[in-house]
Amino acid sequence: MATSQTKDLIIVGGGIAGTCLAIEAQKKGMNILLVDSFGQNHSSTVASGLFNPITGRKFVTTWKAVEVFETLHDFYPRIEKEQGTRFFHSLPLVRLFPNVKASNDWDSSKPNPFISDDPYELPSYFDEGYGGINVEKGGYLNTISFLEAGRQMIGKNNVLEDEVLEPKDLVLEKNSVRWKDITSRKIVFCEGPGVRQNPFFQWLPFSLTKGELLEIETEFDLEPVIVTKRVFMFPIGKRTALLGATYDREDLELRRTLKARDYLEDRFKLFFRESYNIKHHRVGIRPTVSDRRPIVGRHPKHEQILILNGLGSKGVSLGPFIAQILVDHLSEGKLIPEEVNITRFFTFFEG
Ligand SMILES: Cc1cc2nc3c(=O)[nH]c(=O)nc-3n(C[C@H](O)[C@H](O)[C@H](O)COP(=O)(O)OP(=O)(O)OC[C@H]3O[C@@H](n4cnc5c(N)ncnc54)[C@H](O)[C@@H]3O)c2cc1C
Repeated sequence: MATSQTKDLIIVGGGIAGTCLAIEAQKKGMNILLVDSFGQNHSSTVASGLFNPITGRKFVTTWKAVEVFETLHDFYPRIEKEQGTRFFHSLPLVRLFPNVKASNDWDSSKPNPFISDDPYELPSYFDEGYGGINVEKGGYLNTISFLEAGRQMIGKNNVLEDEVLEPKDLVLEKNSVRWKDITSRKIVFCEGPGVRQNPFFQWLPFSLTKGELLEIETEFDLEPVIVTKRVFMFPIGKRTALLGATYDREDLELRRTLKARDYLEDRFKLFFRESYNIKHHRVGIRPTVSDRRPIVGRHPKHEQILILNGLGSKGVSLGPFIAQILVDHLSEGKLIPEEVNITRFFTFFEG
């Protein structure tokens, strides 16, 4: 239990979103309490942890990629350094064209800070097919190790583990909120897919997406490179790699499916020449929003209640950036960009 009963911020949810927020808020001197029920539906521990600035079928540069990638390449290594641990892995990343059309459509004359002019090198166990592009600033985060290091950094007196904060137990006061014997100026819900159960935010257009991925094992050593061609593969050990991922908006049950395994394997075999074994099959739910942008900001009626959610399939890259936006807003009154501000959905609120 926290020693102080007065807080600047209660943060509900200790996935990537809540952990990044807690770290950034403490950096600004805020007195915080992180409350997390380490539930089944914890997408941050299922995630493969990939960060890649060039995504989607059309090979587009992701939203605010320059700022987002600058922030993440500063944020995670800083925590590694402070905690004396390792979870952030920058790796070469090759995006292979899925077909001849994609290769023909690719305009290599357009300058892009994330594409290297240097030719990529692929180990011989990959089939390069129609060729591809050499992407810079990619890599992966060992999310479980990051969350552990994050908890250490936040400090155990500031974290309530295995505890559910029921929104109905909150008492709203004039400029604060009370939960049990703790009074806080603000509360921020970072519940990931758990937002669906939160009566304060049920009106938001979340459109959750189930994802499945495979952990595979080879009989030979793997080279440190991420390769994507409709699906991605990258090594997380000498002879183990992650292969993912699926996107399903219809079936949101937390169970592994043969359909997903076949989907991943069929695509993988198009560019991987060797045999392998499947070691694990993971499944989780991503907190995705209908317009595919995060949601940050204050509840339309209760200004002491806020949300940071909707990191979708890009929690690793967006987490530190969005957390900084919210902390700058709370501490310095800086504006939250319209594209991610909860205000864009206020017309849906009927309270
Ligand atoms: C299969 C799969 C692969 C993925 N791969 C990648 C990838 O390669 N790269 C990437 O960037 N992203 C990836 N993602 C997406 C990534 O997992 C999410 O963007 C990110 O984890 C979301 O983090 P979050 O903190 O918002 O939610 P979560 O990780 O779900 O955390 C929410 C936490 O809040 C807790 N909680 C909820 N309600 C309450 C409450 N009332 N009281 C207390 N605690 C509460 C939950 O128990 C949970 O611990 C993947 C997701 C899946 C499913």
